[in-house]
Amino acid sequence: ISWELACERLDRAAAMMNDTEPVSVEGPIHIGIDLGTADVVLMAVDGEGEPVAVFLEWTEVVRDGVVVDFVGACDVVRKFVAMAEERLGIEITEASTSFPPGTDARLSTNILETAGLEVTHVEDEPSCVASLLELDKAAVVDIGGGTTGTAIVKDGEIVFSDDEPTGGKHITLTIAGHYDVELEKAEEYKRKAEEYKILSIAKPTLERVSDIVAAHMKGYEVDSILLSGGTCCLPGIETIFEKELKLPVHLPSQPLMLTPLSIASLA
Ligand code: ATP
Repeated sequence: ISWELACERLDRAAAMMNDTEPVSVEGPIHIGIDLGTADVVLMAVDGEGEPVAVFLEWTEVVRDGVVVDFVGACDVVRKFVAMAEERLGIEITEASTSFPPGTDARLSTNILETAGLEVTHVEDEPSCVASLLELDKAAVVDIGGGTTGTAIVKDGEIVFSDDEPTGGKHITLTIAGHYDVELEKAEEYKRKAEEYKILSIAKPTLERVSDIVAAHMKGYEVDSILLSGGTCCLPGIETIFEKELKLPVHLPSQPLMLTPLSIASLA
């Protein structure tokens, strides 16, 4: 789908986040479940690919490619499935999921299966995004909580992917140091980026991230960068990457929703 349509769907998804109010839906519904290090998201899309239900909870179930709370993860998935069934008035028996490149897909599929779902599609995260947006000669840069992953896409296929342990958590640590506050408070300040001048505090970390991305892209033909992941919610983040990497940078309207939308659209 086009970039514009994707952004419209992301905005609609964000607007209905955690809304349990019943809606009427028609045709086949596809469910995507994104199990991140910082959050779990369930997104349901209708036959047209339009989001119809979105549930997000901040919870750490996976860290560094390892499930740290298997039971907790299954519980969240079960809870979200029940909420989606209630909202949509349907029975949900299957879902798609994804995993960070380089990690074991079974981490995610085991959780879904234990939660009672049949896994219909499983694809690494940037490949999901690449297939939704039909990308070519692009680098998908996913800046999450713990890591930054780069996936280079040629003709919709991933030709390179790697990740490094630098992400949003490092920015939170810097904020905590700067304002001399606990991590929880620092995380709060990060969400009020303009008020606490977070972009300038985060700049050295983001320049390091952009060095990582530049190293990943070396030797590959890349015409544009696509940002994804929760850390890209920081207003103005794209300006740092444009300046450092000297390439057009696309920032989706709702970075946290891009991977879940892509997973749900995998059918
Ligand atoms: P990883 O990619 O490391 O596996 P993940 O996929 O769970 O983690 P995301 O959900 O993409 O990560 O992003 C989580 C990060 O996004 C956290 O560090 C969080 O602090 C950050 N984040 C979320 N919302 C905002 C915001 N509004 N402004 C800045 N950072 C944010």
